[in-house]
Amino acid sequence: MPVDPEDAQICLQPDVEAEPGRPAPTSAPIAQTSLFDHATFQELVDGLASEHVRTVYSRGRNPTVMAAERKIARLERGESCLCFGSGMGAIGAVLFGLLEAGDHVLFVNQTYGPTLQLAAQLRRFGIEHDLLLDLDLRSVETALRPETRLVWMESPGTMLFRLLDVTGVARIARAHGALTCLDNSWSTPLFQKPLAAGVDLVVHTCTKYLGGHSDLLAGAVVGSRERIETIFYRSYLLLGSVLAPFDAWLLLRGLRTLPVRMERHERDALDVASYLATHPAVRAVHHPALVPGAAVPEALGGTSGVFSFELARDDYDSVRAVLDALEIPLLGVSWGGVESVAISPARPDDAQARARQRLPAGLIRLSVGLEGAGALIADLERALTVVA
Ligand SMILES: *Cc1c(COP(=O)(O)O)cnc(C)c1O
Repeated sequence: MPVDPEDAQICLQPDVEAEPGRPAPTSAPIAQTSLFDHATFQELVDGLASEHVRTVYSRGRNPTVMAAERKIARLERGESCLCFGSGMGAIGAVLFGLLEAGDHVLFVNQTYGPTLQLAAQLRRFGIEHDLLLDLDLRSVETALRPETRLVWMESPGTMLFRLLDVTGVARIARAHGALTCLDNSWSTPLFQKPLAAGVDLVVHTCTKYLGGHSDLLAGAVVGSRERIETIFYRSYLLLGSVLAPFDAWLLLRGLRTLPVRMERHERDALDVASYLATHPAVRAVHHPALVPGAAVPEALGGTSGVFSFELARDDYDSVRAVLDALEIPLLGVSWGGVESVAISPARPDDAQARARQRLPAGLIRLSVGLEGAGALIADLERALTVVA
């Protein structure tokens, strides 16, 4: 769907403001520095007393990173943003910064694997969690415990791209006194604005669509000024998963073309998914816009380029044969770049691992890049003959 013109403008706007009387650079200068020189000792003392807004040391604030944060905060219509050295850095900072021993976290929907692995590590610190895969609101209500402090959502969820009633879950969590956080990496802020739906915090891996060129690692958290300040002092500044100035600059550069890339990813992925949905070697296609009988919720302003499909011959060797026969998509992890990428969660003896997230056998995930839907469909047509 066409991107909101206001979002397109935010993406295109120069990253720095002009100094009075001087022509403005359109791209931010890279503040490739670890420290900042203060004119007086008192100024340094004052800076250290409000490091969340003052440039003292680049493990705290850095001007190039701040330029990226301003842009992402505006795209999410949030008050404040912190950028991190990776998506996991952002996710870790939220969990470490907001949870305490005795707390419980409820993950709703299929969830990015390393996020759950990190939650499992938090058991050592007395923090429990559950993964809920029944997405109706009654089930969410039932799964909340008195000590549930945080409800973590992915919508669409990892691997199967099932949609949640984000507004409904946010409302239930709030009534329960729990915070909510949504991993919005798949939709990008262009296609979904969780804060407007009542969610407290949004996280992103900017490694995927926001950077968009598979050449950087970055993450972001967006929320109220107060909550972001808490995360800044409790975890951001202390855990040190900071975004390097040069990578912040690459991220700013990537954001310029986000609207045009997303419109193209959306269109081509829909074409490819629709083609696969009618292919006899394919049992099912998991794309949020192609769910039989279900309308895409209004909250989702568009769909991105990542979806999955199940082979009718759903054994490991068939998955391997199809992936090896594909010529255009790279075989690898990650997604959201200009190049298509294919992967599968299938492993030779994987029934138990799949059961945890209720993933069917024979699943292949495709991130549709910018090679063109026609070329990808021809590649898939040829590759699927190996399991015909
Ligand atoms: C990749 C990914 C992350 C983690 O991001 P990194 O930048 O790789 O640390 C988090 N959430 C989702 C949905 C992802 O796909």
